[in-house]
Amino acid sequence: MTGTTARTGTTGDTGADGTTAKIAVIGGGPAGLTLARILQVRGIAATVYEREPDRDVRGQGGTLDLHGDTGRRALQEARLTEEFWAKARPEGAEFRIVDKHGAAPRGFGAGPAPDAAGPPGTADGSGAPGGADPGASPEIDRGDLRGLLLDSLAPGVVRWGHRLDRAEPLGDGRHRLHFDNGAVEVCDLLIGAEGAHSRVRPLLTPVEPHYTGVSLVELGIPDADRTAPGAAAAVGNGSLFAFHDNKGLVLQRNSDGRIRVYAFFRSPEDWLRVAGLSADDPARTRAAVARHFADWAPEFRDALAACDDTLRTQPLEILPVGLRWSRSPGVTLVGDAAHLMSPFAGQGVNLAMWDAAELALAVAPVLAPPARWEDSTAASLDAAVEGYEKAMFERGAFWAGISAFNHDRVLAPDGHENLHLMAGPPGPPDGAPAGAPGGAPTGVPAGA
Ligand SMILES: Cc1cc2nc3c(=O)[nH]c(=O)nc-3n(C[C@H](O)[C@H](O)[C@H](O)COP(=O)(O)OP(=O)(O)OC[C@H]3O[C@@H](n4cnc5c(N)ncnc54)[C@H](O)[C@@H]3O)c2cc1C
Repeated sequence: MTGTTARTGTTGDTGADGTTAKIAVIGGGPAGLTLARILQVRGIAATVYEREPDRDVRGQGGTLDLHGDTGRRALQEARLTEEFWAKARPEGAEFRIVDKHGAAPRGFGAGPAPDAAGPPGTADGSGAPGGADPGASPEIDRGDLRGLLLDSLAPGVVRWGHRLDRAEPLGDGRHRLHFDNGAVEVCDLLIGAEGAHSRVRPLLTPVEPHYTGVSLVELGIPDADRTAPGAAAAVGNGSLFAFHDNKGLVLQRNSDGRIRVYAFFRSPEDWLRVAGLSADDPARTRAAVARHFADWAPEFRDALAACDDTLRTQPLEILPVGLRWSRSPGVTLVGDAAHLMSPFAGQGVNLAMWDAAELALAVAPVLAPPARWEDSTAASLDAAVEGYEKAMFERGAFWAGISAFNHDRVLAPDGHENLHLMAGPPGPPDGAPAGAPGGAPTGVPAGA
């Protein structure tokens, strides 16, 4: 790889002479934006290519609980702790777990979602402002998280309307990127942060995500305290998890007065088509979901009846636990693109953001100004990426194992008896891999 080769693209240029590394991040989700931000605060430019046409397009629904040892720690590295707490809802960490009759399983009531130890760097290690419980995992709406990350990036860092179609290795560690809109760019470091169906991943492994046998329908109750008071009371300030008979409902309060409803059930991947339904017909799809839960307690039936027609269906897919690849110069993956897992360890976004932080911190010493691009830079960059991947593989495998373990036990006839697994045991559950790279098991799946 030679740094002085004429460059065809403008990805991540920081110098007029074009001798700094061009870093392309594919995907402006939590991982991609966190990565670009942490590089930016260290004076390193990157370009994020996002398929969506602008920041307002997609309903960024759901809430996420950010853990002190990963998600919030990444925000500290991004110098966005204050911005996070301005939007966070510590009270949203409250969770309740029940069976299909609405009864708490033996020994379980409501409580705050527990968290692992906070990161170093603040008095209590959490970055929590006075009054907030540093031990809890505060919730933040996904849209707010995305908004604060986007607001923190320099203008032009995110190129909207750029869906990567394919990336072509140039043989010297660089890659040529082909976008659906006809744009072509060349980069020195390519980072796939584009989630489940990564277009960068095939450069590293032929492995694709597979269906878990569980489908998810995401619905929502508008103005829930007024339209579904029974369900709203059952949910409280945070989330209500009800799993039983191989299916489950997660009801989750959002900051805009909506309660988001996630319905999980075992089904063939094409259940919609088999049932003669389509996501374009939300009323009938909603009715079909309600039939799945017809023998559940009234608060659940009322909740489903009060949902509006904003509905999203999703087959739950995962990558194999412990997926790895051999090092390939100039390219790597972060977040779901690297270790897509079922949401039942509540870790996906936290890992995605911590991957981003670790990768940025690994490459920063090589690329920070006044570094200029040389052959030696390419070699050092690859060594840095290799170090990142080694830790990421271990962490991803550990949590994907926990997540698969929880998935099977929660989507079970007696799923309610196993819901404590998602509430953050002090150590790995029986049969799960021992040791917790990146922190102890914590968290609950709290939103997409
Ligand atoms: C129901 C549910 C609940 C969850 N709850 C939690 C939780 O409580 N806590 C938690 O930690 N995790 C949770 N997760 C997991 C979490 O949502 C993901 O792990 C996280 O969003 C991964 O972030 P990411 O940036 O890697 O990918 P994504 O969030 O998938 O972002 C990828 C981005 O890339 C863009 N993109 C895709 N393809 C292309 C392309 N070809 N070119 C350009 N751009 C592209 C997309 O538009 C998107 O903006 C949940 C997941 C689900 C399904």
